[in-house]
Amino acid sequence: MKVFKFGGASISNYERIQNVAAIVRDHEGEPLLIVISAMGKITNALEKVVDAFFEERKEDAFHLFQKVKEHHLTQLKYLVTAQWEKATNELQIIFNEVESLLEQSPVKEYNYYYDQVVSTGELLSSTLLSFYLNEQHLSNQWMDVRNLIHTDSNFRDAKIDWEFSTYSIRETLLPILDNKKFVVTQGFIGRTADNQTTTLGREGSDYTAAVFAKILHAESVTIWKDVEGVMNADPREFDHAVVLHHLSYKEVIEMSYYGAQVIHPKTIKPLQNEKIPLYVKSFLDPDLPGTIINQKYSANLPPMMVYKRNQVLITLQSLDYSFVEGQPVNVLHTILDEIKIKPNLTQNTAISLLICVDDITEKIDEIAIQATEFFDVQIQRNLTLITIRHYTPEMIAEMVSGQQIILEQKTIETIQMVVIEN
Ligand code: ADP
Ligand code: ASP
Ligand code: MG
Repeated sequence: MKVFKFGGASISNYERIQNVAAIVRDHEGEPLLIVISAMGKITNALEKVVDAFFEERKEDAFHLFQKVKEHHLTQLKYLVTAQWEKATNELQIIFNEVESLLEQSPVKEYNYYYDQVVSTGELLSSTLLSFYLNEQHLSNQWMDVRNLIHTDSNFRDAKIDWEFSTYSIRETLLPILDNKKFVVTQGFIGRTADNQTTTLGREGSDYTAAVFAKILHAESVTIWKDVEGVMNADPREFDHAVVLHHLSYKEVIEMSYYGAQVIHPKTIKPLQNEKIPLYVKSFLDPDLPGTIINQKYSANLPPMMVYKRNQVLITLQSLDYSFVEGQPVNVLHTILDEIKIKPNLTQNTAISLLICVDDITEKIDEIAIQATEFFDVQIQRNLTLITIRHYTPEMIAEMVSGQQIILEQKTIETIQMVVIEN
């Protein structure tokens, strides 16, 4: 069996959903599991709903949610006629759950509400797609992934309970897939053992697809994108980016670790463990070869670039000129763990620790407050972190041209530079 994952861009409106049907039609009669994200930018829209709810701006929350509802209902009208009433009722059940939550006042933690509301993006999009495929005689079974993937209760970054999920996925899906029926389900979400909805982290649908593939021993996973494949840089940032037709798992895990936004970093491990190839293909032109990612070493790679904008450099200097090793380093890591922030780059000098992190204002303020007890803290904002794997002197020169480098770190394969944003 194969796993296809369609991201937000590939299902952003009814025409794109029709395009998905055209892609999967070529696989009729094959066992195929379709994992999908929320439509277009719906996840961002739902985040705004949660924010309004949590800040007790009830009217805003309802108004923002109304827009999400309208988007789905409008697309549905273009897609489904015979089953329109049934489909509308299914969407309405999901809308009602959110609206009854929005009626309440927040009494639990933000992350809990986030998961209850934001998860509905995937439930709505998958319902739309499933009805449309059925109407196009592409027989499929819609599955609520929350009955298949169980997690812990670490809301917004839930960890998968592999034992439960393996059992329930195999028990439930193998008979359906053996019957050559498509299965349509959601990426990104799961459920705790006590039935609370969870999410796996932003952009987590790629990871869901990989989890299913590992558990079901899939022959491959295909991620359908609005680009021709994985490129050596984000084409929005770098206008002469080129498609890489083959990459090793190692190369992709490294690229995504450094912040390449093309595949979720957690996706590779489950696939690598089972040696399942990952294809990245264009939903706009499915005949193009795209990228294949597998175990084989990728030779002769060109320089690969990743930009991370909106960075902050925090310099922590010991108060009494003692060396920063052992205890102070542990203190810093405890602070970062508590605040849930992951450094994008760290460096030590004799008496200073330097960390480059995403500029999330509240978190930076919190680090500064907690760290001043142990260090002299300095903060520099408006920076970009540039990473180049397989760097060449020419590419370094091109990437930093006219910009001031304030920190640099180099290994044989990778150079990272923090520059002041122009
Ligand atoms: P999805 O619809 O699956 O959520 P995303 O928008 O998350 O898709 O990812 C697709 C986008 O990723 C592309 O439009 C492209 O701008 C960006 N991107 C970033 N880095 C790369 C890269 N190295 N190769 C290809 N695309 C990249
Ligand atoms: N819809 C979720 C997000 O936008 C998950 C995903 O697309 O992978 O983060
Ligand atoms: Mg995405």
